[in-house]
Amino acid sequence: MSRTGAAREGSPAAVHPRMVVALDVGGTAMKGAVLDADDRVVSLYRWPTPRSEGPAVVVDAVLSAVDELLACADDAVAVGLVVPGLVDDHSGVALYSENIGWHDVPFRDRVAERCGLPVGFGHDVRAGALAERTLGAARGVDDVLFLPIGTGISGAMYVAGNLVENMYGGEIGHIDVGSGEDCACGSHGCLEAIASGAAIAVRYNRATGGSVAGAEEVLHLMVSGDVAAATVWGEAVDALARALATYTSLLAPEVIVIGGGLSGAGEALLGPLRSRLRDLLVWQQEPRIVPALLADNAACLGAGLLARAAMPPGFARPGRAVVSGPPATP
Ligand SMILES: [Zn+2]
Repeated sequence: MSRTGAAREGSPAAVHPRMVVALDVGGTAMKGAVLDADDRVVSLYRWPTPRSEGPAVVVDAVLSAVDELLACADDAVAVGLVVPGLVDDHSGVALYSENIGWHDVPFRDRVAERCGLPVGFGHDVRAGALAERTLGAARGVDDVLFLPIGTGISGAMYVAGNLVENMYGGEIGHIDVGSGEDCACGSHGCLEAIASGAAIAVRYNRATGGSVAGAEEVLHLMVSGDVAAATVWGEAVDALARALATYTSLLAPEVIVIGGGLSGAGEALLGPLRSRLRDLLVWQQEPRIVPALLADNAACLGAGLLARAAMPPGFARPGRAVVSGPPATP
């Protein structure tokens, strides 16, 4: 354990020249990585996000985590940082996060002033899409939807090879699929309110009086023959397919990359989702629905790519990331 309590795995970092460090800030954990000149993961780190202590404490924890990553990689030439919520990639400001509670934090400038290195900064989901398209399941594809499904549902979109950077875009979780459910966003009928991991658990408990903690338990119950679990799961899949049919009609993705915790369900989710989407499409080109390849590390690797992109011309070396070993333990 390090002085800030990070869990670490991987080989010593100091032997690799032109490394970058990357940090992905989530609501419950911050994931850090040291990447070598070819964007291979040298070591991974994880810290708890002290969300319950308030946004100012979280900001300090982010800055401390960057310090610690740089202390582990003293040859690092750039820093990448990605955060959730409403994020202005261009000004380098985290405008708002409902989950963490911060407002208008100029992260890029604060980190750059602190460490004196180029800083790539961006939104966690868009960074995940960047990583999946550069290094992962959507390599070389021009029209991509990256769809992490976890506590909530968000999306990041590549259209004709360009990442849509509009910070208000990609909110597929709030398409009205007629779910009949109230959504945490204040609207009604949203996809997220029926098909997120959290919603699946809540709806199962409401239907049965049960007390499952998450969608994974609902999946296990379904596999063991629980009818209510199968109904809730099927309604989630149907709602996802409806939202994806709408997206397909609008933007004709070639590949839809499903990430987030629910992607851990594998073919129990993807198989019925492909089938239901096929039922709904008539003339549209059917997209390939694939699981995220970079799993939990997509946003962190995306932060590394942003760090590389922030380096002065002549320093960047496009490379191919290889995750060495399993993800850091929670
Ligand atoms: Zn909503």
